[in-house]
Amino acid sequence: MALHGRQYLNFSSNDYLGLANDPSLKEAAVEAVRQFGAGTGAARLICGSLRPHHELEEALAAFKGTGAALTFASGYATAVGTIPALVGRGDLVIVDRLAHACLVDGARLSGATLRVFAHNDLDALETVLRRADQRAAGSGPSPAPAPGRQRILIVTESVFSMDGDLAPLPELVALKARYGAWLLVDEAHATGLYGAQRRGVAEAEGVASQIEVQMGTLGKALGAAGGFIAGTRVLIDYLVNRARSFMFSTAPVPAAAAAALAALRLVQSDQGRARCAQLWERVRQVASLAGPPTGLSPIFPLILGDEAEALRAAEVLRTRGLFVPAVRFPTVARGAARLRLTVTAAHTAAQVAHLGEALAATGWPPQ
Ligand SMILES: *Cc1c(COP(=O)(O)O)cnc(C)c1O
Repeated sequence: MALHGRQYLNFSSNDYLGLANDPSLKEAAVEAVRQFGAGTGAARLICGSLRPHHELEEALAAFKGTGAALTFASGYATAVGTIPALVGRGDLVIVDRLAHACLVDGARLSGATLRVFAHNDLDALETVLRRADQRAAGSGPSPAPAPGRQRILIVTESVFSMDGDLAPLPELVALKARYGAWLLVDEAHATGLYGAQRRGVAEAEGVASQIEVQMGTLGKALGAAGGFIAGTRVLIDYLVNRARSFMFSTAPVPAAAAAALAALRLVQSDQGRARCAQLWERVRQVASLAGPPTGLSPIFPLILGDEAEALRAAEVLRTRGLFVPAVRFPTVARGAARLRLTVTAAHTAAQVAHLGEALAATGWPPQ
């Protein structure tokens, strides 16, 4: 990548499979511009729905193994449209403390009571669920849920964007089932990377069919732009008429939908399998030199704590031709400043070795 006229080796991108510059995606985008135009001219429900949108949604549903899928202009729009469509005033939405800003914003916008549980802490989550249950039980003598009873939505990510750790999905699924809650899992950093079919962590853990609302993005490992929800046909039809960020926003450009479709095809091919294997090979290589973070994902948070320290380390790496940005408050908590290092299938072993030397020059890993 180029920055202020200088070339850097980029270790900060979420383009995990290196697809954003893949010829098949670029060609699909260019061809879509030729065939369908640069823009769509209207929202999906007016006249903005074009063949690339429909083909992409069918392909996403097939890929995820769900009844249907719906795409949005971005992952952010997906969350702020979907959560308020599912819960509202009188309902309860429970969000992991480290969930992405768009999930928190969606929860706030919904008007439902918002509770935050400590990161990946099942006991903390159950405490919130139990309290809600007691309140519901206290509202009447009947053990059967009253019609219009409070809905509960649990919201989390499968791979956390700033920490690179994984949510305990099987346990979350068991818990939400026990309390009659719904579960929304954002697989923004997992789609294309985990599971035999590369559908995400839910597939890898064998719990995909038990997650009511499966979210993903198209701008990370899929190399294009946009976001999506995969679920039952009933859920998707409901969102089409309730998710305001879908209804009241101009349809995504055909080039983005076509590129995402090409990416999905690639991910499901032998080439996609090979790319993914290549990525995990690089992840292991980085894990061997970046120390503690265990290498469960391509995201390595090198937590330095102090902001000035994180900026200094980023500067040392920059003088060695490496771009790894310092991430500070409010993206992460105060006192948890870090370098957010990511590795992709497009990095070579030699480049990762160079990274290791540069990291050593910053004093990482700490002794
Ligand atoms: C990036 C990200 C989003 C937002 O997706 P965009 O397409 O960039 O708007 C949503 N959730 C998580 C976990 C993300 O990391």
